[in-house]
Amino acid sequence: MVNGQRIRGIIDTHAHLSRFDVYGRVDEIINEALGGGLLGIINVTMRIDEVSRAFDLVNRYRGFVFTALGYNYGGFDIREAGEIMKIAGERADLIVGIGEVGLDYVKVKDKVLREISKHIFIKWVTLAKELDLPLIIHSRDSENDVINILSRYGPVRCVVHAFSGNRSQAMRLLELGCYFSIPPTIARSQQKRDLARLLPLDRLLLESDTPELGPSVNEPSRPIHVKLVLNELSRLLNVDIYELSNVILENTVRAFPKISRR
Ligand SMILES: [Zn+2]
Repeated sequence: MVNGQRIRGIIDTHAHLSRFDVYGRVDEIINEALGGGLLGIINVTMRIDEVSRAFDLVNRYRGFVFTALGYNYGGFDIREAGEIMKIAGERADLIVGIGEVGLDYVKVKDKVLREISKHIFIKWVTLAKELDLPLIIHSRDSENDVINILSRYGPVRCVVHAFSGNRSQAMRLLELGCYFSIPPTIARSQQKRDLARLLPLDRLLLESDTPELGPSVNEPSRPIHVKLVLNELSRLLNVDIYELSNVILENTVRAFPKISRR
């Protein structure tokens, strides 16, 4: 129950549950989300060592925890990325998306390394298209390259997470069919509030980005915080929370069709 009204279900579309520093308290976090009425959590990965933990969670919380497989944004270990791509191809039946992948020009300044990370990102876009899986994208200061790559190597179903680019870049990503997942930092970020107002309702998703992007600087994010995001969106957009939760749930199933087949 949120604000006294029943909501049909909320899904956290982006949480790093299999990350080494989260995994130690993962059962507690997942049970909190179950108890809080969430309908599901999509785990995203960035390293090869997360893959077995990710599959373990999918097995242990069948129908509640789903996983995508991805690789460190701005990473340039072609061998590691290749290994993860191979597993994603072989175990496509177990995953609901490709991600988190992308480019990060705040983290990667070197021109050559940027080129390598672009090369790897293009491979992920191509793989997502091949496997017909949604691509979960991270981008910081690299939106123009992301847009160019998606335009050239797409179309691919895509979700942009914690978007921090400008208005015209957001419009381009919308034209490319992207969904946008809104993190708990909406509680403290004017940029995220402006973004939410700019986007059409049918492209909004919820994410916690556990353990990053919490509602306050001192509190690590947890999947339960997507309820705060929903509340904030409802207030900000002046849409009834029950109606909004239904719209976002429909968006989530459209963006991640394999969730509804479980
Ligand atoms: Zn993330």
